[in-house]
Amino acid sequence: MRRRVILLGPPGSGKGTVAGRLKTEFGFDHFSTGHWLRQEVAKGSALGRQAGLFLERGELVPDELVLALVKAALSQTQPDQGYLSDGFPRTLAQAVAFDTWAEVRGLGIQQVIYFECTEALVLSRITGRRSCGNCGRVYHVAMIPPKQAGRCDECGGELVQRADDTETVVRKRFQIYLRETEPLVEYYRKQGSLDVVDASQPSDEMMTRTMTLLHR
Ligand SMILES: [Zn+2]
Repeated sequence: MRRRVILLGPPGSGKGTVAGRLKTEFGFDHFSTGHWLRQEVAKGSALGRQAGLFLERGELVPDELVLALVKAALSQTQPDQGYLSDGFPRTLAQAVAFDTWAEVRGLGIQQVIYFECTEALVLSRITGRRSCGNCGRVYHVAMIPPKQAGRCDECGGELVQRADDTETVVRKRFQIYLRETEPLVEYYRKQGSLDVVDASQPSDEMMTRTMTLLHR
């Protein structure tokens, strides 16, 4: 099985859920730049202090900082150990710089799995999402409705919508994705490393398709 894998797709495409399951069910090393950034910020390292300034303002961390972080973390990785990335690279500049750096170390990307999905689908998925304020279980008003509206099946807690799961925020995030991340699809397609998952399918089917692609 290929082990150095990038998951690509818009926020709300379901790739995060697939990444989480690949990690817990199949032991993939899930490499999350978001997680590493928060770790560095918590440690108070030089990198973390710089990145923290952007995160506090709710801004995206610049390419150079993200790259420095990924290089530092992956420098301890053996080529046969592999990685599964969800959220990096986020821009073409990050992708090109990472390829150059990773190839010479034998850590080059082997496969990119693209979760293809329209804005309309992302919108309905995210704006319909509700979670239990008590136990955290996630529902969807249309796709995974609770037995009683507004109440958690598990614990009876109240179901709430996250503040940034609104149409305005979702549309804005999708536009940023189209502008900054979508060009990666063509970039990896030209390299011949791109495989596509239809992200309009239910989560279980996306998972099955992803596993098939990984084993190919
Ligand atoms: Zn609950």
